[in-house]
Amino acid sequence: MVVLGTGWAGTSFLRNVDTSQYDVKVVSPRNYFLFTPLLPSVTCGTVEPRSIAEPIRNIMRKKGEQIQFWEAECHKIDPVNKKILCRSNICTNSEGKGEFAVDYDYLVVALGAKPNTFNTPGVVENCHFLKEIEDTQRIRRSVMNCFERACLPGLSDEEKRNNLHFVIVGGGPTGVEFAAELHDFVSEDLANLYPTVKDLVKISVIEAGVHILTMFDKRITEFAEQKFQRDGIDVKTNFRVIKVNDKTITMSSGLTGEISVPYGMVVWSTGIGTRPVILDFMKQVGQADRRVLATDEWLRVPNCDGVYALGDCATISQRKVMEDIAAIFRVADKDNSGTLTVKGIKDVLEDICERYPQVELYMKSQQLENFADLFKDASDDALKESKKLDIEVFKKALANVDSQVKMLPATAQVAAQQGNYLAKCFNKMKICEEHPEGPLRIRGSGRHRFHPFGYRHLGQFAPLGGEQTAAQLPGDWVSIGHSSQWLWYSVYASKQVSWRTRFLVVSDWIRRFIYGRDSSCI
Ligand code: FAD
Repeated sequence: MVVLGTGWAGTSFLRNVDTSQYDVKVVSPRNYFLFTPLLPSVTCGTVEPRSIAEPIRNIMRKKGEQIQFWEAECHKIDPVNKKILCRSNICTNSEGKGEFAVDYDYLVVALGAKPNTFNTPGVVENCHFLKEIEDTQRIRRSVMNCFERACLPGLSDEEKRNNLHFVIVGGGPTGVEFAAELHDFVSEDLANLYPTVKDLVKISVIEAGVHILTMFDKRITEFAEQKFQRDGIDVKTNFRVIKVNDKTITMSSGLTGEISVPYGMVVWSTGIGTRPVILDFMKQVGQADRRVLATDEWLRVPNCDGVYALGDCATISQRKVMEDIAAIFRVADKDNSGTLTVKGIKDVLEDICERYPQVELYMKSQQLENFADLFKDASDDALKESKKLDIEVFKKALANVDSQVKMLPATAQVAAQQGNYLAKCFNKMKICEEHPEGPLRIRGSGRHRFHPFGYRHLGQFAPLGGEQTAAQLPGDWVSIGHSSQWLWYSVYASKQVSWRTRFLVVSDWIRRFIYGRDSSCI
């Protein structure tokens, strides 16, 4: 059994799989597990990098069984010959290539994703990403460099202001958390150390949608926007970044047209894209027209013997969701005319969005902006009543959802639950084969040994700075403020993968309370 990746999905799988039943080999360019939810805290020195990294060999050792780990990158999956091709960046073999091949019976693909730049010119060259531990160190250094540069003699106020303009592109949870962290760092620590330039600092969040934190409850979005306004963080919604050069970032909106603003540092956090090795694999297995690798509900890659995919690199194909959507339209179209009034269509879409938040996110994205235009035209009541729209147009637009959108959120929660689920299936595989009369589950017209994967949402947090956090817990229970911040501390301390990292993270928090954050440019 070969496991690709040591992130949330891969590590959760490794921790739970019964290694006495399988000969497990792990391939990853990262020899540690990274607790990604605390990455924004590392950018400003609230938590140290090593506190959120657990060596993968520590995790393997605790299993007590022989697992082999190779620090290398898989650059090709060959499902026909059941092998993967790997490349090590730290060593070259006798032929000087550092390349090797590994055969597998079972392949668990948990490669995660890469930052998505939407091919915006200049982003890769000029922006920071926030995905790996190295990114956080680069950002930390860059923030300090901006402050030190602004203090050099001979700079005009204008130049100092430009150096101290921090831009965050993307108003999702990561961008918002980073903006809040940075604001706290500046106001609680750097303002005392750089008193001459503290008033020239500006933090901007640029978001293409109408609001920030759209995946959260409306109350949280509103609170976050108001808090950022009070804190002096400039939130620019409805702005799309079109290019970035080494000094300015250019964006456009319907109202203002194109504008370019100078910056000191840009952090790009606009979601995730598919890794090249997965794109290549998708071509081989007939999924070239999709954006995300699809699996069935048991996390198996269709038509690909022994290959499973989980976490950010894959999505469960939701044929059932599409069937539900078709059924909702059918019920609404009482007279079976194939058309609905504008209001009828609006009700149907609201119903769909309520059931499937991911569809709502997709509809809000660029591709379906024409929906909004349509409803704008229909603001007149008379038109709402009389104008009929063809259902097929809407069904066609929504049919894309399945191939373009990751139907489960790309979060650590989903990845970890999938890793755990798949490990349990593998652990039971032998018993099921020996006792085929055993606990078979019936689904639809077929039979299967295991339940399909079911996601259990445990809630989500949005830290907003100033020791305030917004929490959205199951049942749409919303809590915002200082009490949620303490809930955030306790949940993230308890979720650490080892007592060592738990101790380090908690002691970093205490250190920060006592001494503040470290501002050295190391
Ligand atoms: P990853 O954790 O990214 O792991 C991928 C693994 O594959 C890595 O070990 C990588 O080194 C390895 N790999 C990559 N390429 C190759 C290759 N070619 N060959 C072999 N191995 C390879 N989620 C939450 O639920 N809550 C949060 O608060 C939260 N905060 C976040 C904050 C930040 C800054 C970020 C970046 C993400 C956050 N997430 C959060 C999302 C969460 O981190 C991801 O959803 C999760 O990491 C996905 O797990 P994964 O195992 O699929 O991928």
